Amino acid sequence: MSINKTAYQQIISELAPHNITLVAVSKIKPVSDILELYQLSQRDFGENYVQELVDKANQLPKDIRWHFIGHLQSNKAKYIAPFVHLIHGIDSLNLLKEVNKQAAKNGRVIDVLLQVHIADEESKFGFDESELNDTIEKVQALALNNIKIVGLMGMASFSDNESKVRSEFKKLKKLFSSNAFQSLPSRPSILSFGMSGDYKIAIEEGSTMVRIGSLLFGARL
Ligand SMILES: *Cc1c(COP(=O)(O)O)cnc(C)c1O
Repeated sequence: MSINKTAYQQIISELAPHNITLVAVSKIKPVSDILELYQLSQRDFGENYVQELVDKANQLPKDIRWHFIGHLQSNKAKYIAPFVHLIHGIDSLNLLKEVNKQAAKNGRVIDVLLQVHIADEESKFGFDESELNDTIEKVQALALNNIKIVGLMGMASFSDNESKVRSEFKKLKKLFSSNAFQSLPSRPSILSFGMSGDYKIAIEEGSTMVRIGSLLFGARL
């Protein structure tokens, strides 16, 4: 198995003028593939499964910034709290509280993104607009000092319909820019959207962080 270096260089060159961060999504891929990309200076990697992330982090260089991009169950937050760089998929107040608690135990402040449900597919997780606003209000009252809400994350519908994907991204960008969200004292600055199939649209629609797997590592079979 091997990574696609040409695709990597190409993507890096497309992102650089916009200052967009690339999170290389390495789920299901071996540590040898991650190391290959690491040797090309890639430092941000994304994983979806807690156990897999912990195993890989133990085997790989300590200066890798690990992004948890999957659906995090509250009872597993404790396993990644000691080292995770950014948790992308926070979708409930309870989870936020649990991450805060585990971060405190580790003497850390953990950066998190709130996930917004922008696709029309039932299967995708995340807050809708009113839940998001509700959560923002509650969070401010709770003083969760060991988490920092640094932005939003979303996944567009899995679709060839470019205008549909584009309008879903626009919806996310609008929520991100809203007074309600920008009034958070943490001054959110990260907007995580765009994957292998739609990252070019994501660049045009104002993403600051794309999560790309299969273009770099090949299809997950
Ligand atoms: C798997 C995954 C990605 C990467 O998907 P590709 O289509 O392989 O680029 C991005 N974000 C999330 C949340 C994922 O689960």
